[in-house]
Amino acid sequence: MIEVKELTKSYGTTVAVDNVTFDAHAGEVLGFLGPNGAGKTTTMRILTCYLSADAGTATVAGYDVFEESVEVRKNIGYLPESAPLYTDMGVIEYLNFMTQVRNIPKNQRKERIRTVIDTCGLDDVIQKDIGELSKGYRQRVGLAQSLIHDPPILILDEPTSGLDPSQIIEIRNLIKNIGQEKLVLFSTHILPEVSATCSRILIINNGKIVANGTPEELSSQAKGEEIVHITIRGTQETVEAQLNALEFVSQWNHIGTDNGIVSYQINAVQGSEAAEALFHVVVENGWSLTELRQESVDLEDVFLNLTDKEQA
Ligand code: ADP
Repeated sequence: MIEVKELTKSYGTTVAVDNVTFDAHAGEVLGFLGPNGAGKTTTMRILTCYLSADAGTATVAGYDVFEESVEVRKNIGYLPESAPLYTDMGVIEYLNFMTQVRNIPKNQRKERIRTVIDTCGLDDVIQKDIGELSKGYRQRVGLAQSLIHDPPILILDEPTSGLDPSQIIEIRNLIKNIGQEKLVLFSTHILPEVSATCSRILIINNGKIVANGTPEELSSQAKGEEIVHITIRGTQETVEAQLNALEFVSQWNHIGTDNGIVSYQINAVQGSEAAEALFHVVVENGWSLTELRQESVDLEDVFLNLTDKEQA
């Protein structure tokens, strides 16, 4: 549905998008995650035909974004970061206006408006002017306009930015629902957003894609090694002699000794199931175990490792 190859775009000397390649398929909710300034908006503006690129290719729904922009626009709904809403218009009036902008045949307009009102939960505010609405409802109106022509692809730029926590949850749920039928590509600089909503994550940093995978894949890629904390009653010398003899242990650090109880941080080869193996070593040696804990690597570690820590 979206195919991007070696896309590059600079503003003067700033390379905003640097040789970006990825694709996206129907039925995916793809999270475009990166710190501010990473190049998310620039990429989305190229895909939605608002910006040209310096190099590379991009097709959306099979159409070239540089050569076939009319067809591309028909196939996408776009919600820019600050949605261009007309605050003095009523909700229905605005959606009706958007049906005209999108050239929806007259006899289908009412039905399309009804559908997006239902999808976006706008029933309570249809009598109101957009200017009277909370930011959360305005964002829903923005989503409704992006869906008005029933496009197969939705591109949403920071759709939850500036919303309060309950509004954020509502918009995330909406995105998930919409994602059951359409390809949704949405950007965010907030990690929990993608882990809560996406089937796949692209992490972008300094214009480059630095990771691409499901939340689970990214977490397991980051693991590299298993890290286990172990505390046992035993003599330091014997315990360390055993640790040195274990093939799956790549490194150990003595954390401390207290009243005959010794603590270690153990780095072990990925996939060795080190916690269980260490448990057996403890039992075989007749030591008593006071703590055995495996450190988990989560998505946050992945994100922080791959992007500029101070910006994330
Ligand atoms: P993001 O959406 O991830 O925050 P952007 O695509 O907006 O990132 O920006 C990527 C880089 O390009 C940043 O360094 C930003 O300062 C720069 N940039 C974006 N738009 C412009 C512009 N119109 N003129 C000059 N530099 C820009």
